[in-house]
Amino acid sequence: MWVRVGDAVLVCSLRGRFRVKKASLQVVAGDRVAVRQDPGGAGVTLEDVFPRDSSLSRWIERGVGERAIVANVERLFVVTSLAEPPLRPVFVDRVLAAAEWGHAPAAVILNKTDLAGRGEVEGFSALYRGCGYEVFPTCAATGQGLDALERLLGSGVYAFVGLSGVGKSSLINRLDPNLEQVTQEVVERTGRGRHTTTSSQLFPFRGGFLADTPGMQTFGFPGRDETELAACFPEITRIDTRCRFEPCTHSHEPGCAVKAAVEAGAIASSRYQSYLAIIEEIRTHTKEQSW
Ligand code: GDP
Ligand code: ZN
Repeated sequence: MWVRVGDAVLVCSLRGRFRVKKASLQVVAGDRVAVRQDPGGAGVTLEDVFPRDSSLSRWIERGVGERAIVANVERLFVVTSLAEPPLRPVFVDRVLAAAEWGHAPAAVILNKTDLAGRGEVEGFSALYRGCGYEVFPTCAATGQGLDALERLLGSGVYAFVGLSGVGKSSLINRLDPNLEQVTQEVVERTGRGRHTTTSSQLFPFRGGFLADTPGMQTFGFPGRDETELAACFPEITRIDTRCRFEPCTHSHEPGCAVKAAVEAGAIASSRYQSYLAIIEEIRTHTKEQSW
């Protein structure tokens, strides 16, 4: 493991006391840690892992459950296009929900605006802005829209998650041309399957860090309890106290304020369909867990 101490990047060993052994199972890229200088050596030993502000996790498999990929993300960008490849709303919504789950601030990048039809960019942007997310329409091919993104990037940890072909490496290379050599690797690692246990890695990116997010393209939603999913959809959280039943999963219960809002057009039906699809996913995990 590598640890940044001031301006130096040092080899960090995980040997040590009990709590360190325990922490070593959980330490991920982006974690803030305490280390001790090895006597006589150039390296350091992990002493402690500090509580996280946020994390991104994914479902691994039964018996393992949730696993953090990266911690303390300043901003998670969900990158999508409307065409080539076509929009997959459930993917976008699952990543946004996973960010909410881990208290990671998320935003949406709508790339390939040059390929979108008339009004489509505005329609998509309005939908997600209505849910409370910032939306950045970009065209990595021309650089259009990247200035708004650049203004947001500081010294923190950033992650770009999106399906293959939406333009992640094109965007990243435009934002930081020095990264060109490593982005291919980042993208390749990101494309690995859901059952790999590979953890994330940080790369220097502008004034901050870029995290790769292995397995996030085909990942399972990290939560275990379907009644907690509503809290990961801000537009549902805003109204779900009005449901007749408590708790309400907003799927089959009568007197559900969320279903009424979908019917009235106040909640986008694509978002609600994603919500239901993720509920289904959580039920499948739970079934797997029980045997
Ligand atoms: P990644 O798999 O998400 O990293 O996607 P890439 O960055 O490799 O881009 C996939 C393809 O889309 C490449 O051929 C890019 O040149 C192209 N591409 C990326 N951004 C844009 C864009 O804004 N507009 C158009 N038309 N093509 C783009
Ligand atoms: Zn309800």
